[in-house]
Amino acid sequence: MRDLLGGKGAGLAEMTRLGLPVPPGFTITTKACNAFSRKGRFPPGLWKQVEEGVAAIEARTGKKLGDPARPLLVSVRSGAKFSMPGMMDTVLNLGLNDVTVPALGGLMQDHRFAWDAYRRLVAMFGRIVKEIDGHRFEAVLERYKEQTAGNKDTDLTTDMLRSIVAEFREIYRKEVGREFPESPKEQLREAIAAVLRSWNGKRAVDYRNFNKIPHHLGTAANVQAMVFGNMGHDSGTGVAFTRNPSTGAKELYGEYLANAQGEDVVAGIRTPMRIVELKDRAPELYEQLARAADLLERHYRDVQDIEFTLEGGKLWILQTRSGKRSARAAVKIAVDMAKEGIITKQEAILRVEPLHVVHLLLPQFDEKAKSAARKEGRFLARGLNASPGAASGYAVFDPDEAETMGRDEKKPTILVRVETSPDDVHGILHSKGVLTARGGATSHAAVVTRGLGIPCVTGCEAIVVDYDVGEFRVRDKVIRRGDFVSIDGTTGEVFEGRIPTLEPDFRKEADLQTLLEWADDERMLQVWANADYPRDAERAREFGAQGIGLDRTEHMFMETDRLDIVHEMILAAPEYRRVSAEVRALKAEMETAKEEKRPALAKRLSLLEPVLENLSRRYLGSLEKLGRLQKEDFTGILRVMQGLPVIIRLIDPPLHEFLPKYETLLVEVTKLTLARGDPDVLVRTARSDEDQAFLEEVREAAGGDLARGIEALIPKKQMLLEAVAASRETNPMLGLRGCRLGILFPEITEMQVRAIFEAACQLAKEGLDVRPEIMIPLAGHVNELKVAREALEAEAKRVMEREGVQVAYKFGTMIEIPRAALTADEIAKYAEFFSFGTNDLTQTTFGYSRDDAEGKFLLDYVEKAILPFNPFQTLDREGVGQLMRVCVQKGRKVRSDLEIGICGEHGGDPASIELCHELGLDYVSCSPFRVPVARLAAAHAKLRPEVERMEDR
Ligand code: PEP
Ligand code: MG
Repeated sequence: MRDLLGGKGAGLAEMTRLGLPVPPGFTITTKACNAFSRKGRFPPGLWKQVEEGVAAIEARTGKKLGDPARPLLVSVRSGAKFSMPGMMDTVLNLGLNDVTVPALGGLMQDHRFAWDAYRRLVAMFGRIVKEIDGHRFEAVLERYKEQTAGNKDTDLTTDMLRSIVAEFREIYRKEVGREFPESPKEQLREAIAAVLRSWNGKRAVDYRNFNKIPHHLGTAANVQAMVFGNMGHDSGTGVAFTRNPSTGAKELYGEYLANAQGEDVVAGIRTPMRIVELKDRAPELYEQLARAADLLERHYRDVQDIEFTLEGGKLWILQTRSGKRSARAAVKIAVDMAKEGIITKQEAILRVEPLHVVHLLLPQFDEKAKSAARKEGRFLARGLNASPGAASGYAVFDPDEAETMGRDEKKPTILVRVETSPDDVHGILHSKGVLTARGGATSHAAVVTRGLGIPCVTGCEAIVVDYDVGEFRVRDKVIRRGDFVSIDGTTGEVFEGRIPTLEPDFRKEADLQTLLEWADDERMLQVWANADYPRDAERAREFGAQGIGLDRTEHMFMETDRLDIVHEMILAAPEYRRVSAEVRALKAEMETAKEEKRPALAKRLSLLEPVLENLSRRYLGSLEKLGRLQKEDFTGILRVMQGLPVIIRLIDPPLHEFLPKYETLLVEVTKLTLARGDPDVLVRTARSDEDQAFLEEVREAAGGDLARGIEALIPKKQMLLEAVAASRETNPMLGLRGCRLGILFPEITEMQVRAIFEAACQLAKEGLDVRPEIMIPLAGHVNELKVAREALEAEAKRVMEREGVQVAYKFGTMIEIPRAALTADEIAKYAEFFSFGTNDLTQTTFGYSRDDAEGKFLLDYVEKAILPFNPFQTLDREGVGQLMRVCVQKGRKVRSDLEIGICGEHGGDPASIELCHELGLDYVSCSPFRVPVARLAAAHAKLRPEVERMEDR
């Protein structure tokens, strides 16, 4: 039904069936919308059906479109299958003209009301149907409001409204070149066309692109008799959630605006009262509303977001839809509803979007820092806590600027607006937080940010925003564009300056824990984590990780206290390799050489042996030092993860990644050489932070003496430059890295394996259950694995023999190259496990550089829909996914108990996790913070097809 009638239309039909008071109307289907989009005009028969629909409304209401005695007014509202709040158009009060306005006024005994409705129609019709800039109408309205005492819409007199209508119609005539249409049918026809057209409007298209809503769905258009909330004090309009959409608490939550139309609430023009206040002020209405809410929630078995209007004391339900909610509310509501028996545990799991779990683990302000800020007088104001989480950033008033700063400059921003509208969405998307002066908890800003998980404070009426100057004022304080502000979307507080945030405490999230435990009972995939350090591993365990799927050991090489040792090792390695090969060859030659050749060989050997000794002191010596440090690293992580598998990957990146950049060294050597005769030139030309740091380095090289520092550094830097130049590659990502490195410099990986097994043996002797798994990266040919594994496993056995203990271990490889995936049956002979390194596998499958593609062309590709999404974020099913499928099949054919997982970034992406589940992987491994997401996503992957199968039946 939703496919055809859209969410709103389906809801109206269903509510009518349930016997709720719904204004009569009919729905134009999404199919008609699509036909309209294709041809640019109404499909045959549509208008006739509209006329029949109108006739049916007329029969039910006893009113008639255009009737001079009892005029019918209708609305046309968009409504797609998936809610797209505020992204498409709605036109209200259709049917008003010079004849019906006085008729309506007479009928209602309120001419002011009729003229007010008319001015709304002309402006809305002009803006939406004819795309006239809305500010033109607003400016007129403002001018009239200024003439009143209260400066409010409601202060405008009937005469004023009549003049406003005349001016609006004049604007219309000038802009469109025709009179505003008097014929109600023409109004209706054009409004329907505009609403259908709005499906393809820019905002709607952007929203669908962002939310991955297919473009072919189309919107429905609902034509409905108007009911009025602005007919005096026993009228009003509101929005009610059946549960609190921010916290999830079971209470009727929402807002009510007396004597107002629906759009006044959504647009946040006036700040409404809370629904609970109705309990005292209008107990009967509150009761009626509560009963309808309960009925709807039980009927739809989900939280409902209900729009209602009170017209002359009569309640009308205009719309119901499943309520958007914050991540925290989603989890609480799902768990509560399952406990209340409204839904099953499985449904509860499926009710929470896995990515929303990230929001629950959003940073909060450090309470101490917050109260310090308060003491310092930095508290500015309090608004509504519209979307939870805390954020600090530069105050920005323009959504375009927020987009540029957030997306391109990667700067944190807080978008500050009087109120937001769908035209601001691009800025909201790239802000850390949103602050608005007006609007309630169901205003545009609130709804959009909650969906996106961006902290938001709305209705902060104490702030006065001035777009022209680019500032906002609170009392005597002024916050200018570019000043730092901090907002707490959980409490609604706004502060001046920066407040540090704190990581959330997963252990205290009882509802989330419950939901994840239910998910654990369902899922097939295990969830492991990528962690390099014991503290990351601890966090991963706390989040529920069942193993470490990737410990990138080279990250430990990068630590500052180790870099010197690593440099020494890398600088000596190629020479060591060359000289030791020559010495080996000479020795071999000696054995078979003729007598007369021997002295020459011996001479050469005697020359080389001390060189080799020196090199081996440098190379093997630094490896030994590194080995001791790595043993500590591995002891730490294996201890934390006792009882669970830990995959330790041997060194992977090209060696030059550990050295300074070639270009930097070249500049430094040049500078030093030029400064030889004039050391102070270094001081005079030090402008950037890097220049200053370099100057410091030169000074320190000779105890503070610049001239001597220069002399000391030149040979050192020159040597480094030569070494870096020698190891430079045109395509380092396809070069000497991964297992290739270990094959050329086996001493490095042997050191790592030795360190792993020394750590494991020591812990085993302490009685700990340790399960190291050694992973060889980037294998493409079985022989690479064969050679590497034979050498390394021999080393492992040597250590265990020496230590006198055995530990359970596995040797395996990453699958990062298409050839490895395609020859998985060969590879599996030498691997007890596979781990898909889908970062590299995506790079090598597409031939896109993972370091450059996103910055150069990939995002354009996605924007132009050449690719459906960024394949470095979500696994490409057809290409990379196919390779994985082949790999799993071939690998398991040779080794049925082959352990297979994934450790690329995709391991934390719900859509990719779904594919991993389908492929029958054993686990996904992702960053510790993603572990809760992956636990839930893995359960979704298992449950969703089951639910779909049931729905098909
Ligand atoms: C991968 O390539 O997917 C992977 C996990 O390894 P890295 O990102 O370290 O290259
Ligand atoms: Mg890789």
